[in-house]
Order: sequence, then structure tokens, then C-alpha cells
Amino acid sequence: MKLTILGSAGNIPIPRPFCNCEICKKARKQGEPYKRCLSSLFIDDIKTLIDCPEDIAESLTRRNVKDVDNLFITHWHPDHCFGLRLIVQAHYDFALDKPNKQINVYIPKRVYKILEEKYFVIKHFLEEKKMGRLVLIEHGDKIKFNDITIEVAGYNGKNSTHYAYLIKEKGKKVLYAPCDTIDLKQTFTDLDLLINEQGYFSPEIKWEISFGSLIKRLNKWKPEKTILTHISENEIRRFGWEHFEKMQKKYPDLNIEFAYDGMVINI
Ligand SMILES: [Zn+2]
Ligand SMILES: [Zn+2]
Repeated sequence: MKLTILGSAGNIPIPRPFCNCEICKKARKQGEPYKRCLSSLFIDDIKTLIDCPEDIAESLTRRNVKDVDNLFITHWHPDHCFGLRLIVQAHYDFALDKPNKQINVYIPKRVYKILEEKYFVIKHFLEEKKMGRLVLIEHGDKIKFNDITIEVAGYNGKNSTHYAYLIKEKGKKVLYAPCDTIDLKQTFTDLDLLINEQGYFSPEIKWEISFGSLIKRLNKWKPEKTILTHISENEIRRFGWEHFEKMQKKYPDLNIEFAYDGMVINI
């Protein structure tokens, strides 16, 4: 299967608006790979998108994505789903007030409940105007598209607020867990690829997974390869990109790479 990292930034894009730090200046001036949109993943073979952050339209245009059939949401945070309007309205005929095509929008039940409160227009888009076809899913569900199966993996089982997706094809297994993985309680072994959020170097950030804890996770799960995404501008500014590279080299057995926008993975 072919996977494309559409966006690899943490909760703020790089350049960060208004910021004049060297990281943001460089991203503004030189573009990719320094410039990063918010995190999302595209599964090319089945035109499936995981997450739609606020800048999803820009990510899709930059990668020349011609169409999307399915969208999966990991959790309610704006940097993972507040671009939903642009995805579902892309095929909407505003003159006739009807959709020309409905994208399948897969949302875990509990996440949808939260979104009804935090992003209340979702009901208008999906239930009243039927701009997309809402499919409520649950931990453990397996959704099949041709040879590819996507398994819904709640961070903490059935009542999770955050979800990862396990993408399987012909014996290959990829887990996409882009955010807040400090709460990820399940263990995933036999992964060919883990796409996880970066671990945080800043010791005072207790609400995110630390780089040390992430390394422990990798040593336990032993994925064949790990790509770290959801990269924080703040962390690059504070530690320098050299530190990221140093950490990658420090653990050669773990086969770690840092994501960038437009990174293509064939697996
Ligand atoms: Zn900056
Ligand atoms: Zn996030």
C-alpha cells in the first residue's frame, strides 16, 4: 500500500502565524520540508484520509490529491477534525442545495458525541444537509475496502475519546496514532510500521508522551519501522533540529524516521 503524510506538524502549523523565530522564518522562506501543515495521513490506494485538520484544503492541494472517498477521525481536537467542512462541502452544489457526492465519514461514537458539543455544526453538515455519509464506528470494528482493512483501535478500549487506526493489507500492518498517545494503553506487536506522534523532549510537559517513554514503547512493541509525526514547532525551536537527528541516530535498531509533509511510504 501507498501512504502519504499530508501534514506532519503538531497542533500549530509551521510557520506559526506571526512567529519570527528562525524555524518559522526558514519555513516561510524555503517551504518544504521546513514548512509543515497539521497532521493527516492519506491512504492512496483507497482514497482514504485519516483526520482533517483546519488546513486540510492546503495539504490536499499541495499533494495534488484528486479525490477522497473515505474520512476517518481520530479524536475531536481542532487540529484533527475542524477542517471537516471543507472536505464535505467540496462536493456540495450550493446552487441546488444538494451534494454531488457524499464522502463516507467514519467517526467513533464517543468522539461524535463530543463533537456534537464542541463542533456543533457537524450535525448540520452530516445529519441535516447530508453533505457526507456519517458512519458511527466503535473500538474493534473492521472496515474493509478492497484488500485493505482498517481496524478501529480505541486508546483505552470501548469508552475511548481517542482512536488509532490499524491499517492492514496482505499481512502488512501499519498503526496510525498521531496525537495524545500518552493515553494509548493497548499494546501492538508485529507492526510493519508505526506512525506515532513525536515524543516530547521538554521535561515539564507532563501531559504529552515523553521521548523516553516513547522509546520504551518502541522497545516493547518492536515495530519494524517507526515514523514520528505531529512535530511541535516549540520543540524544534527549543532543542534544534540537530537534536531530533541525534535522537534518531542514538537508536539505530529502532529504525526511526521523522515525518515531513509529502513523505511517501510504500509498504
Ligand atoms: Zn516560530
Ligand atoms: Zn493533535
